[in-house]
Amino acid sequence: MIYFDHNSTTPYSKSVKQYIQNDFVKDWHNPSSIYINSEILNQNIRSCRNTIANFLNCFSKHLYFTSCGTESINTVLSEDTLNANNISSIITSHLEHHASLNKIKYLKTKGLFVHYVKNNDQGEIDMEHFEQLCVKNPKSLVSLLSVNNETGVQTDIKRITHIAKKFDCLVHIDGVQSLGKELVDLEDLDVDYASFSGHKIGALKGVGLLYAKANFNPLMLGGGQERGLRPGTYNYPAIYSLKLAIQDLDLNMQKHVKKLRDHLEKSLNTRINGQKTERVFNTSNFYCNMSNQALVLCLAKHNIAVSTGSACNAGTPEPSQVIQMLNITSYGSAIDYARSCLRVSLAASNSYKEIDTFINVLKKHAASIVKNTSFKNRSTQLQI
Ligand code: PLP
Repeated sequence: MIYFDHNSTTPYSKSVKQYIQNDFVKDWHNPSSIYINSEILNQNIRSCRNTIANFLNCFSKHLYFTSCGTESINTVLSEDTLNANNISSIITSHLEHHASLNKIKYLKTKGLFVHYVKNNDQGEIDMEHFEQLCVKNPKSLVSLLSVNNETGVQTDIKRITHIAKKFDCLVHIDGVQSLGKELVDLEDLDVDYASFSGHKIGALKGVGLLYAKANFNPLMLGGGQERGLRPGTYNYPAIYSLKLAIQDLDLNMQKHVKKLRDHLEKSLNTRINGQKTERVFNTSNFYCNMSNQALVLCLAKHNIAVSTGSACNAGTPEPSQVIQMLNITSYGSAIDYARSCLRVSLAASNSYKEIDTFINVLKKHAASIVKNTSFKNRSTQLQI
């Protein structure tokens, strides 16, 4: 299968695969027990936390292992956490992942004030409007994506925190799509909370990470794991795999993946979302001039996996809210546009040959969006 859906989830990284094959079955003890085998796992969790803290440039005491990005986000965006910090309003955007969007919608029903910052047609946050919202709503919680999962558009989080801090706001980033795609230096970004997920970078599913420098209240009450702030028996293999996956990240492969993405986009003759602003190197989201659902199914028949946007919504025919919010009306209504955009998200394991196969399928089924070029022997002409 040609897999072009890495923003949805990723195959296991090299070391994680080796771990699953060699040691996974041995690591079944409860890390919180006091036998020697458990103590070893407990020490390993401490070492994982330190390694990850070094990678993210933060203190290990500010890191908490959770089950997924959604859990980390929900912990920050909880009534209890907001109350613990005397916060009654949230500044966010319409471009967030459903984990944030839906939780914030719920908080609104509970009486929280929610302010949505404007964005432009590239999916960039309107910084002037953001500052105005901070001026009018000091001491808010700001919650924004650092990298958009659908378009790959990056937000200048340093600028966000610089503005937000002037008005005593706390800042949470949904950093799920940042890991492995851009440098994440938490000290430098100066955020108060950040949420991450293991399965986006080659770790096992079932592990997330919460960075919390400011107070938060636990979602669950139970045992003393994670200093009582995230109780529940440790998912040791998943936590260990997160460390391995982080160690396997290779920022040098960015150039290769970006060349693949550029090769794809050079072959297209269509609107590419977020193309005129800063984007991560692996994502391409473009108008396909037909039903994206139909095209995804057609590509699946050719053994090519792509998506119409967030995987969490893949089962529902709802068009992407993110793409609708770009408000592109030159192809019909904004909703029609959203029904016709496709997301391709690449990784180092992809090749020029795969891109050419993909383009040839598009040429057959969505001809109008492909430039009229021949791909014969292209992969041999290009340096792979
Ligand atoms: N935030 C973003 C930007 C995502 O892309 C995702 C997953 O698609 C999530 C949050 C949710 O993460 P998880 O699947 O670990 O719950």
